[in-house]
Amino acid sequence: TRLRLHSKENESEHLPIYQHKAKLIQAVKDSTFLVVTGETGSGKTTQLPKYLHQAGLCKDGKIGITQPRRVAAITVAQRVAQEMECNLGREVGYQVRFDDCTSQSTVVKYMTDGCLLREILADPVLSQYSVVVLDEVHERSLNTDILLGLLKKMFSNPAKAPRGRSFPLKVVVMSATLETDKLSAFLGGCPIFAIPGRAFPVSCTFGFAVGPKDIESTGYAKEVVKVALDVHTSEMAGDILVFLTGQSEIERACDLLYEKAESIDYRYDVQDQTVEGLLILPLYGSMPTDQQRQIFQPPPSGIRKCVVATNIAATSLTINGIKYIIDSGFVKQLNHNSRVGMDILEVVPISKSEAQQRAGRAGRTSAGKCFRIYTKEFWEKCMPEYTVPEIQRTSLTAVILTLKCLGVHDVIRFPYLDCPEERFILEALKQLYQFDAIDRRGRVTPLGELMVEFPLHPGLTRAVLKAASLGCQDLLLPVAAMLSVENIFIRPGHPEKQKEADKKHRALAAKSGSMNDFATLLSVFQSCKSSDRPSAWCKDNWIHWRALKSAFSVETQLREILLRLQQKKDFPVETFDGNKSELFRRCLCTGYFTNVARRSVGKVFCTMDGHGSMVHVHPSSSLFDQEDELNWVIFHDVLVTSRVYIRTVCPIRYEWVKDLLPKLHEVDIYELSGVARE
Ligand code: ADP
Ligand code: MG
Repeated sequence: TRLRLHSKENESEHLPIYQHKAKLIQAVKDSTFLVVTGETGSGKTTQLPKYLHQAGLCKDGKIGITQPRRVAAITVAQRVAQEMECNLGREVGYQVRFDDCTSQSTVVKYMTDGCLLREILADPVLSQYSVVVLDEVHERSLNTDILLGLLKKMFSNPAKAPRGRSFPLKVVVMSATLETDKLSAFLGGCPIFAIPGRAFPVSCTFGFAVGPKDIESTGYAKEVVKVALDVHTSEMAGDILVFLTGQSEIERACDLLYEKAESIDYRYDVQDQTVEGLLILPLYGSMPTDQQRQIFQPPPSGIRKCVVATNIAATSLTINGIKYIIDSGFVKQLNHNSRVGMDILEVVPISKSEAQQRAGRAGRTSAGKCFRIYTKEFWEKCMPEYTVPEIQRTSLTAVILTLKCLGVHDVIRFPYLDCPEERFILEALKQLYQFDAIDRRGRVTPLGELMVEFPLHPGLTRAVLKAASLGCQDLLLPVAAMLSVENIFIRPGHPEKQKEADKKHRALAAKSGSMNDFATLLSVFQSCKSSDRPSAWCKDNWIHWRALKSAFSVETQLREILLRLQQKKDFPVETFDGNKSELFRRCLCTGYFTNVARRSVGKVFCTMDGHGSMVHVHPSSSLFDQEDELNWVIFHDVLVTSRVYIRTVCPIRYEWVKDLLPKLHEVDIYELSGVARE
């Protein structure tokens, strides 16, 4: 039976970290760098900052805790605010891209690693902070890796560290397990504080459904549902955690699970007679936070909880009471795709260490079981030992510009925990050169100084700045905002409803007056904004109202950044005479000339970036099936399945990019590489 606890404080006293409270506080006080490790769920993220606050470590400055994932930053801050009995945004707050929930009185601040990186740009010695906690370092996100290097560098020159600071800075690096010696060695042999875990055994079984030949198939999602139902009916009470890869897949799996679970007759079908129902809860990054709160609540008695989650539940968020894991074996990951020369979200097999981490989620409070739906052969042949750090598999363009703006010119010999391949660094330098953010000698240009202020992809930033210099930012800011939020168009999945939605979406595209997906985004933004009842308008047009609300807020914030930059005296000003549609598309061209494709034969396009990839217009585009009328196009991104698809497409004229295209080949990356090394 569950013990009734009086307050959150009591509850947290049962976490493993609690017994080490005094020693931990002392360890933080005793050295500049400290590595803290402990099993997921031991209380590192929620408790340590609270302890440091109680110990008076935020007397001089704030305690800042970084998270690689925005949902984690938000949920954890909510939890800690609750435990400390204050309103979120007061003593305890959070900041993530486009959402700042902090105030003057905030002393414990959870934020994404990207946010702290931006703060370093404005304040290189982080003079407002007395403690910086880099959390979930084992996830090896790009920004966290860069922060590690920057903080190491900040202290590498003892004469430099205190300048601009009136009190010491403490750096705590937290990691689930793994590589702690490497981390400590990287940080000058700093102490390691290991919180002893208490993990119960988890028995793992392999399945039959997914083998090496199924690596490209999406059949695993159905199999996962089948196994979840089996577990529900044949295993003893205890909650289930299912790992899938993304929002729409999870929603579909939940629907299917719900449908199948309806027909269970609890008098005959279940082994454990105490189990009387199933509560199905999705969990993914972009989900509304009030919905997320349910995940942590224990289910009503007799009800089995089944959480269907992305990898976020592997280490970032700990759900209590999980006894069964169902592991799909896949994850959605951002990878640099050398075939098309850009970063692409792909569904790939997880690593073996990731699979072990997932399984471990079942053994926190008692012995558990992990059902892997893939075969032993899949494990052996398709799953790598470890996950490759993000810094070694994604585009470094934005990060390299940030480093350059921080005065780190030698971006090749920057202290990386794991070095990215040199060609990735050179690729980033080349892109920055193409967008005029750096010059031929690798120095940041005035434009680059402006670009670094925008929390957007450099190409998009370039287009926005171009528009601003021409006085037509009202065309580009909404587009940038719309491209920054996920899932604008509702795709119901159900065939009849899908037809209805498609019809509405086509009408929206037609309304924009030109065959151009960027213009459609602009038109949706404007129509919704000017509507008397925007939420009803969205519902009527099969648009996610929540996404549009975010886009409105993002647009306002981008506008504020732009206004601030425009007040600087050397903000560029240009003129243009031509019609509005051309103006709009020409602005886009300045940011997207790296994504130009020309129709070769039939419906096939060929990219002009030197890769010469064969691409197709994605069916979601308003230009799909109109390919015959097209010649040159630009596109926002690509989706790789059996084919390479381009998405968010806009027709252009060759003349508009004629002068820009040579830039793609003009500079020899070895010229830039000499500069990179200085
Ligand atoms: P770690 O960082 O070591 O993995 P956490 O501090 O994240 O551990 O988690 C400690 C405990 O707090 C876990 O039992 C977790 O379930 C609980 N917890 C964390 N966030 C919430 C929340 N928003 N609501 C309820 N419980 C939570
Ligand atoms: Mg944690």
